[in-house]
Amino acid sequence: MKVLLLRFGELYLKGNNRNVFEGQLINNIKEMLKGEEYKFSKTFGRYVISNYDPSRETEIIDRLSKVFGLHSFSPAEEVDANVEEIAKQVLQSQVDNKTFKVIVKRADKNFPLKSMDFAASLGGKILQKFPDSSVDLYNPQLEINVDIRMNGKAYVYTSSIKGQGGLPLHTAGKGLLLLSGGIDSPVAGYLVSKRGLALEALHFHSYPYTSERAKEKVLNLAKILSSYIGEIKLHVVSFTKIQEAIHVNCKPEYMITIMRRIMMRIAEKLCEKNSLGAIVTGESLGQVASQTMQSMTVTGSVIKCLPVFRPCIAMDKEEIMAVANKIDTYETSILPYEDCCTVFLPKNPVIKPTIEKAQKEENHLDIDALVAEALETEEVVYIK
Ligand code: ATP
Ligand code: MG
Repeated sequence: MKVLLLRFGELYLKGNNRNVFEGQLINNIKEMLKGEEYKFSKTFGRYVISNYDPSRETEIIDRLSKVFGLHSFSPAEEVDANVEEIAKQVLQSQVDNKTFKVIVKRADKNFPLKSMDFAASLGGKILQKFPDSSVDLYNPQLEINVDIRMNGKAYVYTSSIKGQGGLPLHTAGKGLLLLSGGIDSPVAGYLVSKRGLALEALHFHSYPYTSERAKEKVLNLAKILSSYIGEIKLHVVSFTKIQEAIHVNCKPEYMITIMRRIMMRIAEKLCEKNSLGAIVTGESLGQVASQTMQSMTVTGSVIKCLPVFRPCIAMDKEEIMAVANKIDTYETSILPYEDCCTVFLPKNPVIKPTIEKAQKEENHLDIDALVAEALETEEVVYIK
């Protein structure tokens, strides 16, 4: 019987919490395969997906490849775990003219043959059936794997597809991703969700200074992210009034610092209201003036008691771009629509701001009123 054999990664490190992590992973797999017909079963160390429509296999594999916590999976043939059945299946492999290697893994130690002996005997049978083939243990063209499990079944397969790795979504709680239209923030969202953090997202727009298309682009980025993390609750908040107020009342070189401090305050308010436990940004150390150590100190200092996760902090732009390409957000991110941060952009933003000077500039503003007013513009869009 044709099946998909699923392996999970780090879960085995979880000791007593393992059940919680596994239960969540199984839920996530089922959520990802919603709408597909299939049977799910579990055996020690593996999950098995069977009874699916073979014409849907590519789609199912594509979806499984977006599940965090799955280490790898293989299209396999499931047979009864006895020597004859396994040999029969192994001999179905297309070995003509190829170099090959047989690898046997035995989770079930009651199986009568030792792994190495059984692999050698299977290899011998293949050589008999395909005289033009030969064994190459180091660099074979074909690797025939036999995985004998505890459920009385064995799985024969010749390829493995790498899964996402990481930890099951939702096992780390839920945070708020500050999602701009740039390259970095979608990558930041992907990276933390890969460690189990579910996400809502917050986008600031500066309509009418920023266009409808700029917002559209952010919706599209959220949609791509949602293919990994499921439906995203996206909070869209207008930043226009705030920017105008800062522009009129504060020193230009502190404009971005103050903007970012207000973004953080709004983010924290939304976290409180929606029970979210962390703020996530796409900042990368030294990338621009607002991402120096001093800038991040001054921006972070307005937050009362939430952690700010910055998973791109130590990544080069090139490395961030590579992830953006992998998760398919890059082409959307580089569309040239202006972001709210580019409106009224000062020529010389301060590189080493201080909290005192930022507070002095903020004394020219009614911060609480600006935050409250911005929160009133909030629109919520569910994206899937
Ligand atoms: P990105 O590529 O993610 O836009 P960036 O390198 O352009 O990042 P900044 O514009 O300084 O950097 O923004 C730093 C971070 O602040 C972003 O990664 C994002 O998390 C957040 N941010 C910036 N602009 C917005 C916005 N309009 N709405 C929501 N979050 C934003
Ligand atoms: Mg940006």
